[in-house]
Amino acid sequence: MDALTDFIIPIVGLKLGDHPYQFQVNGQFFDEFDNTELQNGNLDVDLVLTKRSNLMELVFRVNGQIESLCDRCGGELKLPLQHEEMRIVKFSQEDYTDTDEIFILGKDEHEIDVSHMIYETIALGLPSRRAHDKSLNGQLCDQEVLEKLSEYQDKEESNDVDDRWSALKKLLTNKE
Ligand SMILES: [Zn+2]
Repeated sequence: MDALTDFIIPIVGLKLGDHPYQFQVNGQFFDEFDNTELQNGNLDVDLVLTKRSNLMELVFRVNGQIESLCDRCGGELKLPLQHEEMRIVKFSQEDYTDTDEIFILGKDEHEIDVSHMIYETIALGLPSRRAHDKSLNGQLCDQEVLEKLSEYQDKEESNDVDDRWSALKKLLTNKE
């Protein structure tokens, strides 16, 4: 079964004005998209679709929690997320290609799939810095991983020094 069929809105006969919709987004939804930054989550999505004579405005509000990976230790990280985005959908008799801002719908289309728009809203709401932080999100990094990482970095640094020394030695030896 396609997990995204719930996100298809029939638009035939929709009256001018505001139309509210509500959706739930969970793990199944995220499985449909290929993105390691966004693997799981539980969010409520409120959509207000405003139909005007020549276009539709779709305002998405997402609210909930997502699971991502920590920038520092690579461990699973749970983050609260609240974000709002607006998309404009235009009807067209010709075949236009979509742009980032405007979604073009053929004149004979009788439904609209909003799953990608919801996904984009969630992705755009992700904070750019994602890490375990006791004061920000009450979560702690995996200390074992951090220690291994710093050990590894120390080793890398000493290898660099060794490399420079051996290069210098080689240079000196060649001169003789
Ligand atoms: Zn971490």
